[in-house]
Amino acid sequence: MTATEKPNLAGLSLDKLRALFVEAGEKPFRAEQVMKWIHQRGVLNIDAMTDISKALREQLKQTTQISLPKVLQDYVSEDGSRKWIIEVASGSSVEMVFIPEAGRGTLCISSQAGCSLDCSFCATGKQGFNSNLSVAEIVGQLWWANHELGGFDGSAGRPVSNVVMMGMGEPLLNFENVMDSVNIMMEDNAYGLSKRKVTISTSGVVPAIDRMQDYTDASLAVSLHAPNDELRSQIMPINKKYPISELLRSVRGYMASLPDKRLPVIEYILIKGINDHREHARELAELLSTFSCKINLIPFNPIALSDFRRPSSSSIARFRQILQAAGFTVTVRTTRADDIGAACGQLVGKVEDHTRRSSRHKRRANAAQESAKVFDSTDNLAVAADRL
Ligand code: SAH
Ligand code: SF4
Repeated sequence: MTATEKPNLAGLSLDKLRALFVEAGEKPFRAEQVMKWIHQRGVLNIDAMTDISKALREQLKQTTQISLPKVLQDYVSEDGSRKWIIEVASGSSVEMVFIPEAGRGTLCISSQAGCSLDCSFCATGKQGFNSNLSVAEIVGQLWWANHELGGFDGSAGRPVSNVVMMGMGEPLLNFENVMDSVNIMMEDNAYGLSKRKVTISTSGVVPAIDRMQDYTDASLAVSLHAPNDELRSQIMPINKKYPISELLRSVRGYMASLPDKRLPVIEYILIKGINDHREHARELAELLSTFSCKINLIPFNPIALSDFRRPSSSSIARFRQILQAAGFTVTVRTTRADDIGAACGQLVGKVEDHTRRSSRHKRRANAAQESAKVFDSTDNLAVAADRL
């Protein structure tokens, strides 16, 4: 057996750790002990796990490994946010972001290197897709944040109180790894985060939302971004496969399966001239009139390879007012960390794209730039229109 084939203790859920110990003829409570060492105390060295017998420690060293992704770079924003670049096994790198606020600290975690879904407003989508992250690579982001922010030695209390799966990738297209990961984050023997404070954000992979209730009770946010199928399909290709009515039906089903009363968050990016008109707000209010939820408006963050713009503050306020007047609880997401390229939708890392999408997008952008040059230099509309 090579080192890479050995089970990675840092990436096993409590159930899987228990199964590993039982199979080795050990007591299942060893799983709780190991989980506490790794995820509560931040200890990765098996020799330091002193409540485990020396013989078992030797055996674990022979037959298992503890391995986490490497941090390649660390950026600090003027607003106190942090961004870390993490190297993953496929050779790609992904990004995660920590956002400190009064009374809470939110970690925005990646689930895939790149994303196959190609939403027109998202930098990750423009990169194409490379790989799913393993459980150790997903939970490893929380481990690193705790390590860097003083969460393991108790010097900083609990720096990360909330986790949102809103970094790179579509979490529900990496289903099992994401389910195991959020469950480790919420496990008392590990990070013990509240299920209300661990949120999976999805663009709407309906069959996966339908399955979620059998695996987890984490909170759910849904990227809706348009009030009707026609517009949503234009900016989010996944809508052609899973239209809005099916999406809302499946989200309702998941929320109903939870033992406590919780509302899903409907995320709605505001893009100037695309989905930010007062008519869109009214249509959205109508669409959601019988759907219990909170609405989070996200002013578009500029990205390379896109001409989309952020609406003015007054049109954002107007959109919000229309929804509030219709009785919804509406928040507007504050833009954080854009000086270090870490605002929502800006995360890119380094992704070796399997889909060739990134080169297609770049070719299109170059062609558009060339046309723009012709337009600039000749100042002649007819020529520019011809070339476009
Ligand atoms: N794939 C998941 C989670 C990652 S994206 C999803 O789509 O929900 C996290 C959030 O950032 C989503 O709501 C997404 O729509 C939003 N987002 C993407 N690009 C953005 C941009 N350029 N500006 C603002 N928000 C963006
Ligand atoms: Fe993928 Fe989400 Fe970006 Fe869409 S918004 S491309 S689903 S990461």
